[in-house]
Formats: sequence, C-alpha cells, structure tokens
Amino acid sequence: MQSNKEPMKDFDKYYSPMSEAQLKEACAKIKHVALDMDGTIYLGSTLFPYTLSFLKKLKDNGIGYSFLTNNPTKSVEDYLKKLRNMGIDATREEMNTSAVSTIDYIKIHHPEAKRLFVLGTPSMIAEFEASGFEITTDDANDVPHLLVVAFDTTLEYKRLCRAAWWASQGLPYIATNPDRVCPTDQQVILVDCGSICKAIEYATGRIPDIVIGKPNPGMLTVIQERYHLQADEIAMCGDRIYTDVKTAQNAGALGVLVLSGETTLETAMNSNPQPPITALNIEEFGKLLIKNNPNPNY
Ligand SMILES: [Mg+2]
Repeated sequence: MQSNKEPMKDFDKYYSPMSEAQLKEACAKIKHVALDMDGTIYLGSTLFPYTLSFLKKLKDNGIGYSFLTNNPTKSVEDYLKKLRNMGIDATREEMNTSAVSTIDYIKIHHPEAKRLFVLGTPSMIAEFEASGFEITTDDANDVPHLLVVAFDTTLEYKRLCRAAWWASQGLPYIATNPDRVCPTDQQVILVDCGSICKAIEYATGRIPDIVIGKPNPGMLTVIQERYHLQADEIAMCGDRIYTDVKTAQNAGALGVLVLSGETTLETAMNSNPQPPITALNIEEFGKLLIKNNPNPNY
C-alpha cells in the first residue's frame, strides 16, 4: 500500500501505511484487542501509567480484550496474580498463555483426545489436569491420544525420549510455542520449546502438526473461536514486529505495533511490510480505536 505521507516527519502519535479511509474502516471493525504483555501493558514489573484507563476505555466502548503470552511454564493463576499486583483485575478468560490456548485448541480440534503425554512443567500439567485431561505416564503401554510438547523447565531425558517415541508413532503432536530460547538476563541460555521440538525432529524426522504460540495464528484463532469473531474484528497489539504483528498478519487480524517496548520508530519505519498501525503506545492506539468506533464513548 502506498501512502502520501512522509512517515518520519508526520509521526506524532501513530502512523499507518493505510489511507485514512482504510484505517477508519479497519478500526471501526475491531471488537476485541489481544494484548501482548511485556513492553505493551507493562515493562518488567512496572505497569505503564495509561494501561488501566486504556482497558477501561475498551470496556466502555464494548470492546473485549485478552492478554497473551507465549510462556506456558506459569499457570493462568500466576499471571492473574502478577496482573492483580499491578492493579489489573483480569478474569481467567482474559488470560491466554500458550498452554491455555493449547488446551482450547485440543478441545475444539481433537475432542476425542482425553489422555495426553505432556512435556511441561508441573504447573502446566496441573492446568491440563484441571481442564479434564488425563496425563499418561512414561510407559510404552500407557498409550496417549495426543502428544504435547511445551517449554519444560523441568525436562527429564527419559521423558524426552518417551515424547520422541510417541512422535515417531504418528500420534497427533502439538507444541505450545515456537521460541528457541526464553529471554533472560542471567548467564545461561534457557532452551525453550522450539529447541526441544528440534531435538525430537532430529531424532524422529517429525515436526509438530501445529505450534500454537506467536507468531503462529493459533492463539488468535482460539480467541476468534471462543468469541465467535471474524479475524478482522480482532486487533493484535504488541511491541515486536516479528512475533506480535506477524501473529496478526498470519491470522488475518489487524496488527498494531506499539513503541513502548523493544522496537524503535526507525525499525518500524524500515520494516517491510510496515505494521498496519504503529502507535506510540496503547493509549494512542486506544484513542484511535475509539475515535473510529461507530458509537464512541469517550
Ligand atoms: Mg512484548
């Protein structure tokens, strides 16, 4: 899409390569905003000063929202507690880890799968059990319906080998998130789900049938199915082009880059394709959204 604007000069609170009319139309459709967390609603452990009023504005305008994280090691309850400590009163339904989205995905697409072999943390496994799944043991006679591989910070060699065995047997195979490593400020590499899947692939030749986390569309597809929305009624808002905006692009949703995290304006303007919307932060995106709402409630 061509724009008659000079982006660097014109950038004030937001920028879009779309025409005014296209932008207005895209914003007017939005019924749900999927929000990345770190760099988008908070930074580290500090909530951005505009986050609470942004969420309230969405609610006042009948726009739903969800929080998304690729990290499946902590439970929804852990994240809700973190949000509560920052002053955000979120519900279970509003919190989507890649583990929860994997559970939803299995329930919708593999309703027959009740018994799972899972490589994941005890807290993630507890979440699967609480959702009604039975977790099979590390035993060739304890045959699961489906294999789930996650970012398992408690990974055991024997269980990795069992997961590879089930992968080699042609069971449906789902991975929670594609990340190779999990970012850390410690002097260590946190080997993440994508790398564990690579080990299984090298051993068996099998890759997961589907990987749920960003930048794959899985987490947005789950939201779409849960709330009966069209893809273009969802905006995915985050601070990374290659995960957050890409997720939106892959799902057919509206991708919104915010500059409150790791991406600079320069990187945003030089990226190809450019994000459909680049906003200074969610506050500015919220204003844009509500301005274009058919019945705005300020
Ligand atoms: Mg982020």
